[in-house]
Parts: sequence; structure tokens; C-alpha cells
Amino acid sequence: MGLEGVAIRGGFWGERLAVNAATSIPQGWERLHAAGNVANLEAAARGEGETRGEIFADSDVYKWLEAAAWEIARTGDEVLLRQQRELTAKVAAAQEEDGYLHTIVRLRGMPRYTELGWTHEHYCAGHLIQAAVAQRRGTGDTGLLDVAVRLADHLVRTFGPRASHALDGHPVIETALVELFRETGTAAYLDLAAWFVDARGRSTIGDHARDANYFSDRVPVRETTTPEGHAVRAVYLAEGAADVAVERGDADLLAALERQFAAMAATKQYLTGGLGSRWEGEAFGDPYELPSDRAYAESCAAIGGVQWAQRMLLATGDESYADQVERMLLNGVLPGVSLAGGEYFYVNALQVRGDAVPDDDRNPVNGRLGWFQTACCPPNIMRTLSSLGAYVATTASVDDVPALQLQQYVHGSVAAAGFALDVETDHPRDGRVLVRVREAPEGEAELGLRVPAWAVGATLDGEPVEAGLARIRRTWAPGDEVELVLPFAPRVVHPNDRIDALRGSVAIEAGPLVYAVEQVDLGDGAPVDDLRIDLDEPLLVGESDARLGVPTLLASGRIHRHGPDPYPGAVDAVAAGPVAIRAVPYFAWANRSVGAMRVWIPTD
Ligand SMILES: [Zn+2]
Repeated sequence: MGLEGVAIRGGFWGERLAVNAATSIPQGWERLHAAGNVANLEAAARGEGETRGEIFADSDVYKWLEAAAWEIARTGDEVLLRQQRELTAKVAAAQEEDGYLHTIVRLRGMPRYTELGWTHEHYCAGHLIQAAVAQRRGTGDTGLLDVAVRLADHLVRTFGPRASHALDGHPVIETALVELFRETGTAAYLDLAAWFVDARGRSTIGDHARDANYFSDRVPVRETTTPEGHAVRAVYLAEGAADVAVERGDADLLAALERQFAAMAATKQYLTGGLGSRWEGEAFGDPYELPSDRAYAESCAAIGGVQWAQRMLLATGDESYADQVERMLLNGVLPGVSLAGGEYFYVNALQVRGDAVPDDDRNPVNGRLGWFQTACCPPNIMRTLSSLGAYVATTASVDDVPALQLQQYVHGSVAAAGFALDVETDHPRDGRVLVRVREAPEGEAELGLRVPAWAVGATLDGEPVEAGLARIRRTWAPGDEVELVLPFAPRVVHPNDRIDALRGSVAIEAGPLVYAVEQVDLGDGAPVDDLRIDLDEPLLVGESDARLGVPTLLASGRIHRHGPDPYPGAVDAVAAGPVAIRAVPYFAWANRSVGAMRVWIPTD
């Protein structure tokens, strides 16, 4: 279901959305102006001028416009509405007569689409279309939609089986065109999206320095068994393919995507849900190549993962995809922005060493930064948070009985399928979810609540429930209540033996949260790098951290002093006394100070 029936008003997610609205999005407006993205639009409207930023600079403006649109829908923010209209007018003025729009290609006098492998012309178009649909749905304005339709019509005339066969190096146009088809009903957009999906995978994308797998162009989508190459590109392509499969009723394509997702989850996903282990090519590694310290795990890849998983949930009804949305949102996307809302991680490593050296603005050893030379992640996080309501509920009816499924637990209200519900919860800081019926459909109706796979021992109105969808079918009346209790007892996670980089280590989780140990909680005499955890001692729930507003976990361990020889003939680490381990949710790390951190802790 869409955003219109969901209001997130308080609790954990309400706080995060309030920070996104009060800090992230307003600062994004300023930073897009300071970085020159808006100046590029103004220059393109004049037809001449210098360009600033990367070749895909326009896309960051569009992602911000999408975030603004969902935020205006949520809060009615007048300042944002004025800014939206001002920026929309600049985008419209930069569009060329025949619908083409890409400021940097135009200003540099480059021939259109001749180097589509790296110019991101379709990529920018895709983000424009997504912003336009958001603006229409969220605010009712059609200014950006007019631009998007002219651009999409230009693409339909220019590309496809009877026109240019060139493909963009970076997917996103596929999912955007399907969304534009849903918005306008114009079948040509869906046809072009389907053509883009099936034309890929034949090594046709030319580029000076990259192999076909970097572009997800080595193997056709229907034959791909596991995502490979650049992680963001791979998952964006997969989500577009999922949209095509749903709209076309293409069971073969959907089955291929289910196999790919399963292979990714089994062998190429970090515990945090993070995707892409290699800095080189920002790429997926081989199966089980998941080192903590050089984990790339780009914030955008987790966002693409969330979008893909949500599409698979809607297409299949398999609740494990909603578990994936939860894991990736909390542990893969949310670490990408500071709790204060103004700084971002591009890369989300699961370990940072005490003597790490900054070598790149993406390296987490810098701490979060306000903006990046390649600023894809910040506005991507903004639009994800402002549209969070879209992940909260689904409405698949069962046997013609109205049915509403709560998929993600947020404090607020949900209205759909004849229900109006109030939800009280502080999830994921607490496992209690109270659902109160304000309005109910006539006659029998079904309310479903997702029980995550991690919630062993969950109860619904005091009765044990299994993982999956807990369904209650009955006649409902205003005032009825349902209480779901999800156990948040801390637990130890062991890695698959094939992940060599993690062998001999464990991680700790509670509820849907992955935890991390930071140097600031261990003190100077106890380096995180030398920490071992003692599994004979119990894991305990700690006090909530007052500065971070998050739950903590407590464990016991030791610091091992090691000798100077990197390859001694025998084990020469010496235990140096017990140490109390205090762990914070991974998403909250690097909000007090930036120092050594690790998610996986050696056991001996
Ligand atoms: Zn990014």
C-alpha cells in the first residue's frame, strides 16, 4: 500500500523522521546549492556555463526533490513546498525542446548517449521520474511530472528494439519507468522498462575501464544466479526487474529474482544487511567473501536492498522479505546518517582499527561527513526515511476477506482495507506492540502481524506464535486490542565456517539490532583490536545510553596482549585480565567519538 494511510508520529522511528525533516533535508537543500548541482541546472537553462560535480550530479537534486515530496505529504511543510516549486521550475527550464535532460552532457557539448556506459543519462532520468511520481502523489503538483513525461517520451522514441540498443551503465531507469507507467497508464513506459531489463547481460555496455560484470551486463537477468559486480547497480536492476515481473505477470522472471535474492542473502550479505564487500568496483565479492574491516556496504546498496526486498514481499507474500527490510533498514541504512541528522557514512565497515588511517572521503575512519564528492548516499537516505511509511503495511486480501498485514512496527496509525488502527510501540528499542482498532470493516476481516524469524518465543495476546505472519480473522469492533510481544533477549550469532574472515568470532544481537563495541566504551587501556569475548558469561541487557537514546548490551571478555612477531611459531597472545564489554546498536556507532569499533568479536 502507499503512504497515504500511514502516519508515524512518535517512538523510535518518529524521532528519526523528525531529525530527517528538521536537519537532513534542510541541510541537503543548502549543500546541493553549495556543491553546484543547482548551478548546473541554471547554466543548462541558459545553455552555457561551467559544470560542477560528478557527471550524475543532477540525480542528487532529484533524490532530494523526492525526499521533499514525501516530507510535504507527511507534514505539509510550507517552506519545503516553496523550495520544491522553485527547484522544479529550474529543472523544467533546463529541459531541452525534445524532452532531453542532462545538464552536464549538455553543458560540456558532449554528443548525447554516445558514452552511456558512464554518463548516467538514463540514471538521472530514472531519479527524475521517481521524484516526479513522488511529487504528484505526495503533493498533487504536476510540474515535475510534466518534465518526466516529456523525458520518458523522448526515451521511448530513442531507445528500444526498433531504435538505439544502447544501455545505461547504471540501472534505475527500469523501476522508474514502471512507476511512471503505474502513474500515467502509458504502456510504452512499461514496454521500454521490460526491454531494458532483457537487453542487459550481453556485454554490450562499452566503457574504458570496467568489465561487463561491473555493469550487471555479463549475464542476462533471467539467467543470473547471484548478484555480481557493482552492488548498487545490481540491486537497482533487480528491483526494476521485479517491477516488470509483477506488471507483466512474468513468473519466470520473478522466480529468477527469488533465486538471486536467496543466493545473495545466503552468501553475500553482511550481518548488518550490508551489500557489497569490495572497495574495488564498489562490488559484491565472491560467495562468503565478507571481511569486516574493508566491508564496503555502501549506504545506497542497503537502500536498494530494502527496495528490492519490499518488491519481493509484495510479489510473493513471503514474510522473510519483510524481515530483510527490517534488518537492512535498521542495520544497513540507518548507520548511514548520524543521530543528529547532518552527517553521513558512504561506507559501512563492520570493523575499524584503532590505528586506521584516512585514505578516502568514503572511509569510515573519518567519521560521518556532511557531504561527499559523490553525494549519492545522503539524499538517498533522506528519501528513504521520508517514505518509510510505505514499508509499514500491506493489504493482500485473503479469500475475498479484507486483510491488512502489519510488516514493520512503528508508533502511529495505519488506515487501509477498512481498518483504522493505532499502533503503540517503541520498536526496535522495545518488543511490545499494541494495536488498537479505531475503525473496522463490516463483517469478517483479517489482521496479520509479522513475527520476525529472530523473535523466538513471541506471543500474541499471551499465546505463543511462530515466525511468519500471525493472522487473526474475526469480526472487529472499535476498541478491540491486540498485543504482540517480541522477545528482545540478547543472543550470540556465529558465522558460517566459509566466511574465513570471521572464523572464531561471534556477534551479538537483540531483537532486530546488530550490536557493536566501540573504543569509547572500553577505555584507553583496553584496545578493541585485542578484545576477546567470554561466552561462558551471560549476555545482559544494559541501561539505555542517555546520550544516544538506544538500548545497550553487556558482556564479559578479556584483552589479549600479543607479541611483536606477526607470524610467531606458536600462539603468543596473553590474556590480560577480564574486561566488561558494553555494546551499542551498530546504527548508533560513531555518534560520541570516532575510534576503533568491531561487530565480530573473537572468542579465544
Ligand atoms: Zn551512495
